[in-house]
Amino acid sequence: MPRKRARSARERTDARLTAERAKTDQELARRTRATANRADEVVKTARRRAAAVVEVARRRADVQLRARKAPSAERSRVDAERSRQDAVLRNEYARADRVTAAERAERARLVAELLHHERRDTDRSLLLERADADATVGRRDEFLSMVSHDLRNELTAVGLSIAQILANVPNDKRGRTILRCATNVQRANLRMNRLIGDLLDVASIAAGKFAVIPEDHDLSAAVDDVIESLAAIASAKGVALVVTGKRGPLAACFDRQRIQQALANLVMNALKYTSEGGRVSVSVARKGQEVRFTVADTGCGIAADRLPSIFEKFSRGTRSERSGLGLGLYITRRIVEAHGGRIWAESQPGPGSTFCFTLPVRAARRGPQRLPLTVASA
Ligand code: ADP
Repeated sequence: MPRKRARSARERTDARLTAERAKTDQELARRTRATANRADEVVKTARRRAAAVVEVARRRADVQLRARKAPSAERSRVDAERSRQDAVLRNEYARADRVTAAERAERARLVAELLHHERRDTDRSLLLERADADATVGRRDEFLSMVSHDLRNELTAVGLSIAQILANVPNDKRGRTILRCATNVQRANLRMNRLIGDLLDVASIAAGKFAVIPEDHDLSAAVDDVIESLAAIASAKGVALVVTGKRGPLAACFDRQRIQQALANLVMNALKYTSEGGRVSVSVARKGQEVRFTVADTGCGIAADRLPSIFEKFSRGTRSERSGLGLGLYITRRIVEAHGGRIWAESQPGPGSTFCFTLPVRAARRGPQRLPLTVASA
């Protein structure tokens, strides 16, 4: 199935540039029209005044002609002369109007040409800069992916050795010490794997390459897998990890691996910030046209002033509670948004936190397909 990408920062820059240019064009046209209207008004007023002055002079001349009883031949000559002057003036005005219109058209053409050249140059520089940036990012990504691959290989080797050690721990005092140490190494190994994965995801979001592949799956089964994989961590911490609410198959269209990653992030955080004896409950339920996931814990909670920023990149708590890079919730948000869903948290220091996210189920009825992406870069 082809991958559908989130709208990249580059596409957003292009859209902003196009919108900015359309705005400039509109503003330019508005100002040009306003200037032309003002100039036309000035010319019209001047012409009206000139016509009024001529009219007064002609009335005076008429009074004098009548006073001295000028012969009709002379009046006819005066009338003819006035008609000729009026025609000359009309022609003059028409010529002046044509010159003004031509000048305006020429000015508009020059401005359009100037804008065109200026924009073409900007586009060229932008393309060159992007090609340059692409090459740099490409080299960086290649390096990053090589290093992460090698690191993951090393971590897998460490994981396998630890599994061997755990399988052969003697059941005595020395063995219990080995078991404790090996379990710690195993946890550190998992955390390192997760950190590398998070860094790779953030790099792919930044490069506009982040994608989800929604297909028809059973959400309940996906949730059960996540709970099962984290049960050992929960029991090692002495925290009850339970699935609540109605059980049973729940069909939806989603990227199984990514949604499991999102849910695992929330559950792992809940376990991380909940002390021994606490409880983490997970539920998934259909509500109208969406499915809602809820992860509630009885942990330390989050201060009200931090709550609005926890889904941002590198948002981390106080130094004492930190252990991650502050990327888990950011990636989780991007995964949910890439599915057309929403994510939020309700929390207070004390009673604990509740994280919720939704997924639209509408696509499930139409079989496997890509969902519209609504990702906005942070
Ligand atoms: P990290 O990898 O540092 O945990 P996250 O993005 O997953 O990064 O979380 C960001 C911050 O949000 C954490 O450092 C923590 O302060 C807070 N946080 C997340 N989940 C919880 C939770 N369930 N209870 C309390 N604080 C939480």
